[in-house]
Amino acid sequence: MKLLRYGPKGAEKPGVLDNDGGIRDLSGVISDIDSRFLGGEAFSEALRVDPSTLPLASPGSRLGAPVSSVGKFICVGLNYADHAKESGMELPSQPVLFMKATSAVSGPFDDVLLPKYSEKVDWEVELGVVIGREARYVPLESALEHVAGYCVVNDLSERKFQLESGGQWVKGKSCDTFGPIGPYLVTRDELTDSSSLPLWLELNGKRVQDGNTNNLVFDVPYLVHYISHYMSLQPGDIISTGTPSGVGFGMTPPTFLKEGDIMRLGVEGLGEQQQRVVSYT
Ligand code: ZN
Repeated sequence: MKLLRYGPKGAEKPGVLDNDGGIRDLSGVISDIDSRFLGGEAFSEALRVDPSTLPLASPGSRLGAPVSSVGKFICVGLNYADHAKESGMELPSQPVLFMKATSAVSGPFDDVLLPKYSEKVDWEVELGVVIGREARYVPLESALEHVAGYCVVNDLSERKFQLESGGQWVKGKSCDTFGPIGPYLVTRDELTDSSSLPLWLELNGKRVQDGNTNNLVFDVPYLVHYISHYMSLQPGDIISTGTPSGVGFGMTPPTFLKEGDIMRLGVEGLGEQQQRVVSYT
């Protein structure tokens, strides 16, 4: 099932994609796609709903992030060998974790804002994992049982804030609109295996990232298992699993986003996003 949230920013309703690509209104069945829904009985009940029995939403509705009130937005750094190499960094022996402020979450087609004083805004297509069941010290073998589904994430980054401003990467990862999520949360009953999904990003029509999740250094079950030893994972938390090579600061010369640029990105089976880059006003 492809769960989504549609409508004006801040007033999104829950929905589901039907077989013809139409948005069906789920608001008569559930109140929202959030921690409470994902972690409760309503989630498995919703999976049994036949979308064709639900009212059709008007076509062309804006899509929001498919999860509301994300609790934690945990990112994994340097999780593809080719990206670690282009970053000039060692391949880590354990997952590199950092947080992205949840205020950075935005819709998959919303504009990306260049922050004030930014110079080096960069893109990162990633496989996102949505937690569906609390995870605390989970064994590797059962880690996937804690996953509700998957989504596309663009882990936007300001490299000057991230790498030249001292302290933690969080500064360069948390600006408003730096976390487009969606278009859908594809549930694990539909996408049973995320271990070899092509993922890509095009900048102004030119493909710059072209990877596959089969090159992840630490795969999804391992990440859930590993992270759950440092913090509990709660329903609605998102883990963004890292980006393959082809980001702007790895290019010669380095290339960064500017006003008017268009990013299109996707992960096979999870849909596509598109964002226009605009200046902060
Ligand atoms: Zn990233």
